[in-house]
Amino acid sequence: MEKITENETGRWLRFENWDAESGLFQGVTVKSPGGWGMSEEQVRELADGKGFSTVRRLRQVHGSRVVSAEEGHWSGGNPPEADGIIGSLPGVLGLITVADCVPVFLFERGSGSWGLLHAGWRGVESGVLTESLNALRALKGCSAENVEFYLGPAICGNCYEIGPEVAQRLIRAVSAEGLRPAGEKYYADLRRLLPIQAEASGVKAGNIFTSAYCTRCHNELFHSWRAEGQPALRRMWAFLGRL
Ligand SMILES: [Zn+2]
Repeated sequence: MEKITENETGRWLRFENWDAESGLFQGVTVKSPGGWGMSEEQVRELADGKGFSTVRRLRQVHGSRVVSAEEGHWSGGNPPEADGIIGSLPGVLGLITVADCVPVFLFERGSGSWGLLHAGWRGVESGVLTESLNALRALKGCSAENVEFYLGPAICGNCYEIGPEVAQRLIRAVSAEGLRPAGEKYYADLRRLLPIQAEASGVKAGNIFTSAYCTRCHNELFHSWRAEGQPALRRMWAFLGRL
């Protein structure tokens, strides 16, 4: 289902269900042996080499706003503050950063529309996934039942410890299902909470795929804020677009 791919520019993890036939180019950067993985410049170089004319990067703020890659948010050089980007035109690549938070990829084959979201606990609580489905419906009339999701590498439910206040907020916003109490603390699995939100919006359970990788358990491949700290320097790039 997932495969580490590489070329002369760098390495990335690819979700194989969206093969070349779909026209999608998608991935999450993976550390090089002994190195930190691709820089933003290298990801842009990779995109350029694949034939993308435009790269759209968000200024992520742990919220629920989703913007279209095709609207006028991008003039003036300042990227919009948002945690989700959707698009349908060929040649445009969306780009976000993650390091424990979930990179959420979505695709609607009928219209060729795609979306890329950054979802930490705040994004889950505020409903960035639901917002993306609303935005996709507004952009292309897509129905949620035709949307496929891939929840990429992120911190797993055995590694992600949170305090009781955050746990209560997630339980109120979504469900207690993805939360495991452990003494005073809880362990949260954001990739169990996100499918609950998706299915409540009409997404089919069979169209939701979850990465086998945890950023902390597989720290040799991925950056993890919990494992490494220094989030400003150590992070992965997640990208999605259509050619
Ligand atoms: Zn883990």
